[in-house]
Amino acid sequence: MRTGTTIADTLEQTVDRYPDREAVVYPRRDQRWTYREFDERVNRLANALADLGVEKGDRVSTMLHNGSEMVLTVYACAKLGAVFNPLNYRLPAGEVEFIVNDAGAEVVVFEDATREAVEGARPDLETVSEYLWVPAPGDEGNDPDTPEYAHEFYGLLEAGSSARPAVTVAEDDAYAFIYTSGTTGRPKGVVHEHRDMVEHSLLCIAEMNVRAEDVGLSILPLYHCAELHANLFPRVHRGATNVIQHEFDPVATLSAVEEHDVSLMFAAPTAWNAIARTAAETDHDVSSLRLGLYGAAPMPERVLDLCMEHLCEDYVQAYGMTEIGPCGTFQSPDEQRSKQGSAGTAALNHSIRVVEPDAAPDATVEQGEVGEILISGPCTMREYWNRPEATAESLREQGGRTWYYTGDLGYQDEDGYLFVVDRKDDMIISGGENVYPSEVEDVLFAHDEVVEAAVVGEPDDQWGERVVAYIVGEADAETLDAYMLETDRLADFKRPRAYYFVEELPKNPSGKVQKFRLRSDEVDPEGTAVAED
Ligand code: ATP
Ligand code: MG
Repeated sequence: MRTGTTIADTLEQTVDRYPDREAVVYPRRDQRWTYREFDERVNRLANALADLGVEKGDRVSTMLHNGSEMVLTVYACAKLGAVFNPLNYRLPAGEVEFIVNDAGAEVVVFEDATREAVEGARPDLETVSEYLWVPAPGDEGNDPDTPEYAHEFYGLLEAGSSARPAVTVAEDDAYAFIYTSGTTGRPKGVVHEHRDMVEHSLLCIAEMNVRAEDVGLSILPLYHCAELHANLFPRVHRGATNVIQHEFDPVATLSAVEEHDVSLMFAAPTAWNAIARTAAETDHDVSSLRLGLYGAAPMPERVLDLCMEHLCEDYVQAYGMTEIGPCGTFQSPDEQRSKQGSAGTAALNHSIRVVEPDAAPDATVEQGEVGEILISGPCTMREYWNRPEATAESLREQGGRTWYYTGDLGYQDEDGYLFVVDRKDDMIISGGENVYPSEVEDVLFAHDEVVEAAVVGEPDDQWGERVVAYIVGEADAETLDAYMLETDRLADFKRPRAYYFVEELPKNPSGKVQKFRLRSDEVDPEGTAVAED
């Protein structure tokens, strides 16, 4: 029988190979563990969870900031065949209730910062039988504040046996339910198997040339698959060191790079911008940094310039989403300038297609034309948990391959490089012409008095839809309309026909604007002004 390789195997093989290399460094608690020491703690936690009744297939939810506890929990679940279910620590009680009930979790692990949300949800959590409480630093193993309904994390860890749990986990067992960010609607539970994630780890190792000598710093949240699957997993798989930063802060990041000789780091372009600006004003030694990874959006050229000047020379971009692992394409260091604005080309073992939106996987558009991006590869999710219809809509078979319909629009240039344009649901069709809101938003952003802008379509009798802009900032409608009329960057049919001024834009807990909420009239603008047609 071939059981393949699981996430637990990737750790255990590293322990055999590099038992004394440093695995986890968590400065907030002064923790430094070699791979042997880390693995022993993972076994203890796994056995302690088993003693509480956690069995293969059971779900374990976390509401945690970055920390060694998060890293211990994901590997302990992997060893038990339990399903890891990391939640965004910023979620309010209602969202916690929705996800934990949807996942049907047996255990919830939480901390000070998330106690209120968990307690708010607790009366309605139908399936949870055990709560684990991560105490504040200094209170490990002896926290008088531990809620009476919870087990204290470190006390539990100490009580668990250090022997490897005797559970057989297969490569096609579910490893995790990772909920999407909820930008386009309610978050959906993405079911990933062990096999998908081992494959995904391998392609990240190859793309970033991760080595045992590397020291990675986790600054973005580990509850999101980008930090967890594209950074932590490849580093553990390869035997590199993982320094864990509790919460993002540019100064703390630069200090950690200097102190721990960090060589690899992942962040979104906005965070890279903040780190590079801070580096320009301080004198941290960041010479150990050899490669930066980014995703979520292309790197604007001026941010790339800043990063290259103040941090390191080489950057890799990944494009993708929770459903495919998340990495589906990579843009390598030598393509940062030559293919600026693109998301690169398909990751190893992956194929990319651009098709007529919602059409069959072979209905490809002409080269250069915008269509829906499809991705096929070995790390694609098994399904959306409890959502057979959404699964059938987004995973379609053809010619022996499964294609994931990303819901993103993009095009490929003459060399096959992918450019991501916008989300399909956000595209506006006005008078038969396609308007991509991101293009209009980019022009609005360039105005000094615009802090934030979100462009959506509004029903219109004459044109089908008309372009409208929600604005955070000091500007007024006349000024913006005059500015848009002057610019030569946009065709006139793309010019907003109304400006709505709001205090803030509706966002999901990761900070992405939820346009479906703007379209549903949920947001009440403070004052509206309509530009002349
Ligand atoms: P939901 O699916 O619940 O609406 P979400 O799609 O925002 O939430 P994620 O899986 O975290 O949840 O985000 C994936 C999306 O992020 C992609 O579909 C794409 O729109 C965007 N994205 C990711 N990487 C890039 C990139 N490099 N360039 C442009 N867009 C990107
Ligand atoms: Mg999505």
